[in-house]
Amino acid sequence: MDLHQPQGAEALVGRRPAALAVEDLAWAPGPGEPIISGLGFAVAPGEMLALVGPNGAGKSSLLRCLYRYHRPREGRVLLDGVDIWSLPARDCARRMATVLQEPASDFGLSVAEIVELGLTPHLGWTTRAHDLDPVERALELMGVSGLAARSFASLSGGEKQRVLIARALAQGPDILILDEPTNHLDIRHQLEVLAMLARLPITVIVSLHDLSLATAHADRVLVLEKGRMVELGTPLDALTPERIRQTFAVETAIDTHPATGRPRFSFHLHP
Ligand code: ADP
Ligand code: MG
Repeated sequence: MDLHQPQGAEALVGRRPAALAVEDLAWAPGPGEPIISGLGFAVAPGEMLALVGPNGAGKSSLLRCLYRYHRPREGRVLLDGVDIWSLPARDCARRMATVLQEPASDFGLSVAEIVELGLTPHLGWTTRAHDLDPVERALELMGVSGLAARSFASLSGGEKQRVLIARALAQGPDILILDEPTNHLDIRHQLEVLAMLARLPITVIVSLHDLSLATAHADRVLVLEKGRMVELGTPLDALTPERIRQTFAVETAIDTHPATGRPRFSFHLHP
């Protein structure tokens, strides 16, 4: 492999972009009031959906339902038409990759070992034994090859985040679910990661705080408020100044970015 000519992320991910459908979904941690409820929407194969909403709106809870961590109290999550809870966990793990906010314990592993964990759901798949090394390719793609031998725990927040994205890509998923993946990234890496995600030929569901990033890259935006879906549509349909005022309690000015031609959002508090 020529490390100076990394193949794009497109070459790493799966070839069967998944369709995801959510039907009348509700989830609660216990017997009390649900944290999210009444959620129904479909994500088309290859689509990139951005999930936005204030702190505590239920974004992480919804994502945990989508990747088969939380079992719904009501409703279903369908992966290519099949209820994910009727599938063996391993079948889900082979097709879905996640990038989460609080990575599980790293057990003192090196960066290379962390990314190799992405291959675990595929162990025993003889077809993959002949592939180019997806771990090296994913590390190269995320610009963290130089860190491969370092202990994961010693990395900065942004470096860890890029390693975890590399792990998800190395898994070769058909659907990628990311919870605020740009949180610890500097501005250049934020833009690069979002552009990379948008180019992927697989289905991507990503929670984001930055409404401009969501608008620039997502096919559609889902706005969550107090556990309910209040908007789902193209970025400019979903993120109107009225909607942003109601859900985020800020005023928004939208103009056209002079360099990119894309909508630019600026925010201020109520006068
Ligand atoms: P977001 O990701 O949009 O900030 P979360 O899904 O993390 O929102 O949380 C939504 C609400 O549900 C918050 O008030 C949070 O405290 C609560 N919550 C989430 N998970 C649990 C849990 N396991 N037990 C109790 N409360 C929870
Ligand atoms: Mg969250």
